[in-house]
Amino acid sequence: MTGPDDRGPGAFFAAMTQAFDATIRARRGRHDFVGALCAQAFDSFDGNVAIQAEGTPALACKGDCPTCCVLRVVASAPEIFLVARFVAANAALLAQHGIDLVARIEATAAAAAGLGEIERMALKRICPFIENGLCLAYRVRPLACRGHASYDEAACREATAGHAVETAISTPHLVVRSLVQNAMMSSLRSSGLAWGLYELNGAVALALSTPEAELRWNEGDDPLRPAAIADFDAAEAAAIFDSIPASAPRHA
Ligand code: SF4
Repeated sequence: MTGPDDRGPGAFFAAMTQAFDATIRARRGRHDFVGALCAQAFDSFDGNVAIQAEGTPALACKGDCPTCCVLRVVASAPEIFLVARFVAANAALLAQHGIDLVARIEATAAAAAGLGEIERMALKRICPFIENGLCLAYRVRPLACRGHASYDEAACREATAGHAVETAISTPHLVVRSLVQNAMMSSLRSSGLAWGLYELNGAVALALSTPEAELRWNEGDDPLRPAAIADFDAAEAAAIFDSIPASAPRHA
């Protein structure tokens, strides 16, 4: 497996963009397109985090702690459409259990619209996907959720309560998440697809309520734009992507 460790972050990024480019060429417009892109991103994240985190302390996160799920979640368009598909496919079943997930998402989107990271945390509003302390969308959760991993649950509780503490967040998770997500965004950009970052709930609400949103995105439109986060600097990101060589020589 290609990893940030064996060839350096630039080479890993270049290899990932080539892999995403190939998926976009082969699958764009097909029903399985966003699923294939996200599966590629999630598999790469999992595999490379396992390598990078070797020898680091055990994580406190076991998949059953919602403490950090009051933070703003930002995600790319394929991740948003994957979550929207999950919601559309499961809303009726969840409603039978008294969970109106779409209404929850819309309410959170309205409450958190336009908030930056600090203001979103200060809102202390739990993600609408949390039910009985568990994430309903765990299998399809965005890279941002996968990449936020802690060594210390108590420190997370203090931090999300607004207290100034040093949270023990896993650097390998942050770095690999950033590399994988940026590689996917770079490939979306060079393919003429909307490649920005969106607030999760606002964008999922839009994806569910906008006719043919995913189809329009496939055609190069940006139907999620009203939920784009204001603090994403597209020009700066584009300049960074363009500065990374398209390929790097392998070690002998
Ligand atoms: S999508 Fe799931 S993991 Fe991510 S913030 Fe919401 S509840 Fe937490």
